[in-house]
Amino acid sequence: MYAAPFSYHRAASLAEAVKLLQELGEDARLIAGGQSLIPLMKMRMTRPTALIDINFIPGLNEIQSPKGELRFGALSRHSDIENSTVAAEIPLIHDCAAGIADVQVRNQGTIGGSLAEADPSGDWVTALLALETTVDCFGPAGQRTVTLESFIKDAFTTDLAHDEVVTGVHVKKPPKSSGGAHVAFKRSAPVYPTVSAAVQLTLEGKELCKEARIVLGCVGLTAIRAKEAEAELRGKPLNEKNVQAAAEAARGAADPQSDMRGSAEYKRLMIATMVKRAIRIAARRATGEHVEAGHEYAGR
Ligand SMILES: Cc1cc2nc3c(=O)[nH]c(=O)nc-3n(C[C@H](O)[C@H](O)[C@H](O)COP(=O)(O)OP(=O)(O)OC[C@H]3O[C@@H](n4cnc5c(N)ncnc54)[C@H](O)[C@@H]3O)c2cc1C
Repeated sequence: MYAAPFSYHRAASLAEAVKLLQELGEDARLIAGGQSLIPLMKMRMTRPTALIDINFIPGLNEIQSPKGELRFGALSRHSDIENSTVAAEIPLIHDCAAGIADVQVRNQGTIGGSLAEADPSGDWVTALLALETTVDCFGPAGQRTVTLESFIKDAFTTDLAHDEVVTGVHVKKPPKSSGGAHVAFKRSAPVYPTVSAAVQLTLEGKELCKEARIVLGCVGLTAIRAKEAEAELRGKPLNEKNVQAAAEAARGAADPQSDMRGSAEYKRLMIATMVKRAIRIAARRATGEHVEAGHEYAGR
């Protein structure tokens, strides 16, 4: 099906994008990679009357490593991040970028668009909540920065006002002896995951877990920070018993819906498995080991 008619506007600056959003009203939408918006328009599940293209605004696609953090311009494509040596400093971020959909989607889709879309099945929110992440938003009053926790309000709902643009994402670099992993289970590459899990650990010595963040994806209306699961690891050795207890707590924290990707019970079982897997990979990475990880497909 074709999208309903709309007008197209190309913003040359952030100020112009904001002005256009104000002038064209509530039915106008920004477009970045178009990988969420265009399919929804073609299915006529959304009918914006105007699209404001932000792809020609300079300076929004840089990936930088200023002191103590990584910074991603909102227009950084998933594939830019996948192939970035700067982004690879935090392996969990590489896992996420490299696993999203297929190469066509990764070449177009952007980190800013993913966060603004706030799709509960999307990968970036799950991955970035395992790290200390803030989001830069530009609007009529200028720039403001908000934590990712406060940015995501609900399924497909963010803190962003209609006349604001996401301009960048900051991720604090984890301390020494830290490691993380983002793993997902999907039916095939060009679909969203059935479940996903992101884990970031800091160790003391080789076995003791000093700090843990565990985030569950696709099993609730937003990504879920599994704080009870984190408590099962914090201050404890990463032995089989404690990892199993964390996985069980994660299963308890999940609140999935049955859908074409699987029953709620199947997703609860899968999330426990994925959390265990992510903890194991994160722990090995925290000791300096290079471990390949990422999205896994049914039947492989
Ligand atoms: C076949 C397919 C499979 C996919 N599989 C996955 C998957 O496995 N995992 C996953 O995470 N994602 C997946 N996606 C989605 C993909 O990652 C999209 O890139 C992402 O959701 C949206 O980014 P975008 O740049 O394409 O945004 P767009 O589609 O351009 O925009 C999405 C929404 O965000 C708004 N927006 C965009 N940029 C900004 C900005 N800078 N500031 C404010 N608002 C903005 C738009 O107005 C729109 O409402 C898939 C997409 C397709 C088509």
